[in-house]
Amino acid sequence: MIRSLAPVCISLLVLLSCFTLQPDPMDLVDVCEMDSTILVELAYATPNNFLGQAVYSSGDRCILRRFAAERLVRAHQSLRKQGYGLKVLDAYRPLSVQEQMWAILPDSRYVADPAKGSRHNRGAAVDVTLVDLAGNDVEMPTAFDEFSEKAASNYADLPRAALHHRSLLQQAMQEQGFSPISSEWWHFDAPGWEKCKVLDISLQAVEVN
Ligand SMILES: [Zn+2]
Repeated sequence: MIRSLAPVCISLLVLLSCFTLQPDPMDLVDVCEMDSTILVELAYATPNNFLGQAVYSSGDRCILRRFAAERLVRAHQSLRKQGYGLKVLDAYRPLSVQEQMWAILPDSRYVADPAKGSRHNRGAAVDVTLVDLAGNDVEMPTAFDEFSEKAASNYADLPRAALHHRSLLQQAMQEQGFSPISSEWWHFDAPGWEKCKVLDISLQAVEVN
């Protein structure tokens, strides 16, 4: 009797472990822990950004929802095969940082109103640029957060190299389901961002599973 129950018990255990070991795609994860070859240079961790002051601290990490981070890693790996890689400039941004940004520059042309929350506040948007395999910046249409018509994701009057690099970046990101936005070549939304809640966990307090 006991012997006949053994296969059933083993099957149940296997089934149970499948459920318990499956990571939640909505978890917040540290992108560098998923792929240490992705460069991260959080633009808001230094005063060298359009706000003119740092709103992140130096120990802050590059955090995203797991499903978005997995897609980002795949985009990065596909670019590596073409001699390039990703550099992340911003990812998950806690709501309180959004409020700080809004206090510095309360203008919805440049900063999302914290009352609505940004897709970055949901851990489902990322600002990225392209680097070569040695980690050097390559020519792109504009600097990050340059709010001009040249920053539009389809602006055409650009040097050939900038157009080529923007196209490589867009292709790699779109192949993984990310959507560009029309006004910023560096910004991409992960598919299903609208299902993610706005969060206010600090970048250092995020517990990575
Ligand atoms: Zn963005």
